[in-house]
Amino acid sequence: MGLLEGFGITLKQIGHVVTVPYPEAKRPKPERFHGRHVLNRYEDGMEKCIGCELCAGVCPAKCIYVRGKDNPPDAPVSPGERFGFVYEINYLRCIHCDLCVEACPTEAITESKLFEFSFTNREDAIYTREELIVDDAGKPKQLPWEDWREGDDKHTSAWMRATSPGGDSNYEGKPLWSGELGYGVRAAELGQTEPVTDSDADASDSATDSHGSDAVSHGATGHH
Ligand code: SF4
Ligand code: SF4
Repeated sequence: MGLLEGFGITLKQIGHVVTVPYPEAKRPKPERFHGRHVLNRYEDGMEKCIGCELCAGVCPAKCIYVRGKDNPPDAPVSPGERFGFVYEINYLRCIHCDLCVEACPTEAITESKLFEFSFTNREDAIYTREELIVDDAGKPKQLPWEDWREGDDKHTSAWMRATSPGGDSNYEGKPLWSGELGYGVRAAELGQTEPVTDSDADASDSATDSHGSDAVSHGATGHH
């Protein structure tokens, strides 16, 4: 390439801005971005976590600590026998791999798009169940040191939905995930939007979860 041709290319780029003045401005994040976790609840407000510890077992960074406890018969916290009595994630270790999300049998743990959260002490870095659990509107709680922006709290189950059996192209348009407080059964993603046929609906009816949602639990369908 000649010298003049090189200068020509440089001149063409003048005025073409490719950066944003971060952190005042931020680019939109991808739908399946791996950010700060949330613990989800069913549409009736019950917690999805059953304290099974699978997420803790699969975590390569060993940063999840769970202790299950029997549900009080008169006021159960989750639909299972047990609920996640203690649930902690140590963000000094988490590498946001999402293996915990994929391992969870009840879709309890998923991730928001928030990654701008910095701490000045170790206690703040270890998120507790009370901090991780979504509020009564199904939204992540916003802690004082977190920088939430528009859209960071949307699609918090996107990665789970993409990798659940519903993410298999053979099951396009069939929501195989449970409903969420504040959102109901989340819509399928782009490319998974074929209408559900009558025979699909029949299959779904026979495996509807205990919360009366249209979603089919993974275990019930056996689709993998
Ligand atoms: S995202 Fe990965 S590293 Fe972080 S808690 Fe989940 S399994 Fe562990
Ligand atoms: S978040 Fe999921 S995998 Fe982890 S303890 Fe709760 S139910 Fe089990």
